[in-house]
Formats: sequence, structure tokens, C-alpha cells
Amino acid sequence: GRADVPLEITGLAKRYAGASDRYAVRDLSFRVEKGQVLGLLGPNGAGKTTTLRMLMGLIRPDEGEIRVFGHAIRPGAPVLSRVGAFVEGAGFLPHLSGRENLDLYWRATGRPAADAHAEEALEIAGLGDALARAVRTYSQGMRQRLAIAQAMLGLPDLLILDEPTNGLDPPQIREMRDVMIRYAAGGRTVIVSSHLLSEVEQSCTHLVVMDRGRLVQAGPVAEITGESDTVLVTLAGE
Ligand code: ATP
Repeated sequence: GRADVPLEITGLAKRYAGASDRYAVRDLSFRVEKGQVLGLLGPNGAGKTTTLRMLMGLIRPDEGEIRVFGHAIRPGAPVLSRVGAFVEGAGFLPHLSGRENLDLYWRATGRPAADAHAEEALEIAGLGDALARAVRTYSQGMRQRLAIAQAMLGLPDLLILDEPTNGLDPPQIREMRDVMIRYAAGGRTVIVSSHLLSEVEQSCTHLVVMDRGRLVQAGPVAEITGESDTVLVTLAGE
């Protein structure tokens, strides 16, 4: 039944007020099954962030429907408690440790002190002893994994990551890949956006390729990388 489907998008469209007639997202439909790591891929302006912001209930679509575990998404929908999100630019207090920053966040969101879920999330983030160190000593890759640890703290069933590999070097990208794979291995579902196939290819089970607001290709990662060289060469060249 639909209650088992982490995400089902039907006929989604969004145009920004004041922007030209152009749709940021148009005719977008796809479905994500439990345990998948879905890569949302496309060049700058393809509509990835707009799509993810609609999934997070931050902005309303003009047309179409988003269902998360069978429930319609709208701002403030209760099912959003099952969704965790990483967006760029999460701020941390640099003089506090990683763990102290997460504790602050956890309490600020009105939850009791960190629990077993939080411990599992920290393990998945793979920061190890660095959690005890001040965030100002962290590399960019560690900061981004701390931000993702924050999104994972309650072990949400659906984890949405908007360009988590942005600005990372290849070893940091590999660590990020391992975090996503470990997270989904627990039967959870991950959606990750990127404008570079090479940065997410090895983390993803499935891909949705977007360009100018529309879906260009969708399917298991092996099928897409094999079939649509043209699209992917274009994307890789961005
Ligand atoms: P990027 O990789 O650059 O983040 P993206 O695939 O995430 O790109 P979006 O940010 O969703 O793409 O943008 C899709 C289109 O919507 C672009 O043409 C963009 O200029 C436009 N757009 C995005 N945000 C707004 C806004 N707040 N107001 C007006 N237009 C916007």
C-alpha cells in the first residue's frame, strides 16, 4: 500500500512569483521505494532545489501532489516528522564541539536529551573522536557530515540531502557516499541532489535526471549510466 512508499510525486509544477513565465519545475512525476538511494541530478537551474524544498514542505507546488508514506505534503504536515533534511549553510558554533552543537540543536527542537537514535546517527556519520573536538578544527567534509548527522539525529525514514558533496574533495566525497549507503542499509530511504553524476553515482541505487524543470531520465543507476551518455556527458561537463 501507499503507506509503505516513502515518496510519490505526481504532476508536480512550480513557478516563482515575479519570475518570467518559465516553470522552475514542470510535469514532474516519480516514485521512490524503501531502501533506495535516489540521486536527483541536473545542471544548475534544473529545478532540483525547488523540488526538494517542495518535498520538505517549505514551499507549495502550483500543481501536482507529493505523498510521503501515503500522506500529502503541505507546510506543517505531521508526516514531515519522518523526514530529515540537509540544506547547505547549516551554521555551527565554532568554539563548541561537534557533539555539543548537536546537543544544542536537539534540545532547541524540543526533544529530550540525545537518545539511542542519536547515537546510531552519530555512528553512521562516522565522525568518531572528532565529535569531541571544536568545530573550528573541522575540515569542510567533516562540517558537512556533522550537518548530516544533525539531519539524521531522529533516524528519519526519509533523508533529503541537497548537494551534500558540494565543495568536497574526492576523499571527502567517498566518506559522504559511505554515510549515505550506511543510512539506507538500515531500510531507510535517501534522496540526494547533485549537478555532477560522478559525485553521487556510486552512492545511488536510482537516478532521476532533470533539466530545465523537467524529468529527462529515471531508473536504476546502471540502466541510466549505460543508456543516456549524451545527457550525462552534458551534465559532467557543467
Ligand atoms: P542549482 O544546482 O543551481 O541549485 P537547481 O537545479 O537546484 O540549481 P533551482 O534552484 O530549483 O535549480 O532553480 C530552478 C529555476 O528556478 C531556476 O531558473 C532559478 O533561477 C529559479 N528560481 C529558484 N529559486 C527562485 C526564487 N526564489 N525566485 C525566483 N526564481 C527562482
